[in-house]
Amino acid sequence: MTETAPIPTKIRHKLRLRRIEVAQVIPLSETMRRIVFTGDDLHDFVTAGVDDHVKLFFPQPGTSEVILPDLSPEGGSDRSAPRDPRILARDYTPRRFDEERQELIIDFVLHEEGPATQWAAQAKPGQYLGMGGPRASHIAPDTLTHHLLIGDDTALPAIARTLETLPPNHRATVLLDTRETDKTYPLVSHARVEIHRCQTGGSETLPSLLRVVVLPSVKKLNVWIAAEIDVVRALRDYLIAEEAVPRGQIRAAGYWRRDSAAGGERVEG
Ligand SMILES: Cc1cc2nc3c(=O)[nH]c(=O)nc-3n(C[C@H](O)[C@H](O)[C@H](O)COP(=O)(O)OP(=O)(O)OC[C@H]3O[C@@H](n4cnc5c(N)ncnc54)[C@H](O)[C@@H]3O)c2cc1C
Repeated sequence: MTETAPIPTKIRHKLRLRRIEVAQVIPLSETMRRIVFTGDDLHDFVTAGVDDHVKLFFPQPGTSEVILPDLSPEGGSDRSAPRDPRILARDYTPRRFDEERQELIIDFVLHEEGPATQWAAQAKPGQYLGMGGPRASHIAPDTLTHHLLIGDDTALPAIARTLETLPPNHRATVLLDTRETDKTYPLVSHARVEIHRCQTGGSETLPSLLRVVVLPSVKKLNVWIAAEIDVVRALRDYLIAEEAVPRGQIRAAGYWRRDSAAGGERVEG
C-alpha cells in the first residue's frame, strides 16, 4: 500500500478591496521598511494562514491616485473586464494583524527599482494604498512536525510568522539567503529552530546550502520555499529528485523574477 501525504487545509475568503492608510514607518534595516497600516476598512480583515498574501495597489508615480480593478458582482476579480494597464499591483505578506487596534504590519524589502520599492522608500503617515485579499489561506497539516523553511529577504515575513506559531514539540530547519543588514530581522519561536545562512559575499546559494544541510526523515517534513523563481524551481526539483520528498509536502512559490517586473507565481508540477 502506498502512503499518501497529509492534505493541507485551504480556507477561501471573499475578495474585498480595501483602502489602507500608513500610520507609521519603521526602518528595520537599510533594506527593509516596516509599514504599519490602519483604517476603517480593516474592521473585517482576516489573515488565517502564515503565508497569506495580499495584493497592494500603488499610486501612479508622482501622484496619490490609486487605480483599483473592477470586482465582479460575486466579489471576485472580474476576469471578463479588460485590465487597466495603469494598475500598479504587487504581492505582500501580512506580517501581523492586530485585530483590536486594527493595525496591519507589512515588511517591504527595498531593492533596486520598481513601484512597490519606490513607494515604500518614501512612505509617510497619512498616505494611502489599495489592498485586495487574502483570497485564500493555506494551513499545513499538524501531523507534519518538522518544518524546512527556505527563502530570501522577501520570505522573511512569512518565515517569521510561521516560526511564531509553531508549538514547542515542533522543529524547524531554516535556510536563508538574505542581505547582510537583514540578519537582524527578528525570528522568534517556541519550537526547536536551526538557522543556516548562505555566506554573504561568496558564491554560496540556497541550492548549494541545501545540499550540505542534514535533513530529517521526510516522513514528518513540511517544506515551504519562497525566493526568486528559478532558485525556487532548483530547490524544489532537488528535494523531489534527490531527497524523495513527496510533492504534496512541498509548498513552493517564486516571490519575484529576475529582470522582470511584478513576477510571483506558485511552482507546481
Ligand atoms: C505571495 C508573495 C508574497 C510576498 N511577500 C513579500 C513581503 O512580505 N515583502 C517583500 O518585500 N516582498 C514580498 N514579495 C515579493 C514582492 O512582491 C516582489 O519583490 C515585487 O516584485 C516587488 O515589486 P517592485 O515594484 O518593488 O519591483 P518590480 O517592479 O516587480 O521589479 C523591478 C525589478 O526589480 C527586481 N526585483 C523584484 N523583486 C526583487 C527582490 N526582492 N530582490 C531583488 N530584485 C528584485 C525585478 O527582477 C525587476 O528587475 C512577495 C511576493 C509574493 C508572490
